[in-house]
Amino acid sequence: MTAHPRSPGVTVRAAAKVNLYLGVGRPRSDGYHPLATVYQTLSLHDDVTAATSGRWSVELVSEDGIDRDSFPTGEDNIVVRAGRLLAAHHRDARAASLTVRKSIPIAGGLAGGSADAAATLVALDRLWDLQTSDADLLSIGGQLGSDVPFALVGGTALGGGRGELVTPMLDQATRWWVVVPARSGLSTPVVYRHFDQLSPDAPEEVHVSEDLLSALEHPDNRVLAATLHNDLAAPAIDLRPELGELIEAGERAGALRGIISGSGPTVLFLCADRGSADRVRTSLVEAGQPRVLVALGPVSGTHVVEYA
Ligand code: ATP
Repeated sequence: MTAHPRSPGVTVRAAAKVNLYLGVGRPRSDGYHPLATVYQTLSLHDDVTAATSGRWSVELVSEDGIDRDSFPTGEDNIVVRAGRLLAAHHRDARAASLTVRKSIPIAGGLAGGSADAAATLVALDRLWDLQTSDADLLSIGGQLGSDVPFALVGGTALGGGRGELVTPMLDQATRWWVVVPARSGLSTPVVYRHFDQLSPDAPEEVHVSEDLLSALEHPDNRVLAATLHNDLAAPAIDLRPELGELIEAGERAGALRGIISGSGPTVLFLCADRGSADRVRTSLVEAGQPRVLVALGPVSGTHVVEYA
């Protein structure tokens, strides 16, 4: 990554997520899909730096492979919406400049925007010493997006409602993942619409499988691999058939299981251990994949990494 001078302020780290289980139901009367999910944070992360300023602004610092054109540079960036919402909650008229150091692919199904929003809430809370309660941060996060509360909490957690009701879970094992971002993103609403077309009989209520919940108590990644599940995989692969081919290639290279992350198009491979993850990565790079990362999970939720 290119070296950039750090702006003064508070820097907060927020992790990408994978859904170990994603059950999706029929749309509710408010238009949202009911979800039953188990989230896990990955060591792949963005950092958000907040500094007081006369006006709201956002700047992107990114490594190669990030689709910079998809990053909104104005008021529609979720970090500005997060900052404004927190300031309004405290009836605070201040504004801030926000710098996002992005490694999480945009529109990749890894909830990078949600992670940035969660990091912004914590960064501004610390910068301005607002002492926002955890309950209020979670509720403001839930207003910004379904995945924001989990980004605040991190680790491994059960998600209900439209994803915003988060219950932390014990997962003491280290899970090794190979992450393969796609060249261009997939729109989450488009994938959900395709899910509705493919699954007109989706249930009203969804539940996480008992098999996955008990697999989480087992340190062996082989046990967990057999229980991973994503209801959005079929619509995502139908929209992008090459994702199915990629999953087969990674599994042939030794991964325990390849899955679509959330609404895709990022593909994640759960591997037995670090050595296996490195071998799968090498094999996919040799097969022509331009960006293949190794990440572990779970890691902690949003946390301060620098006061300057
Ligand atoms: P999810 O899995 O929650 O749908 P995602 O990983 O698929 O998330 P994001 O990277 O969060 O997708 O981005 C979704 C859309 O939000 C993008 O099309 C992008 O233009 C917009 N967006 C707004 N702010 C941000 C941000 N800070 N980072 C990334 N995308 C942002």
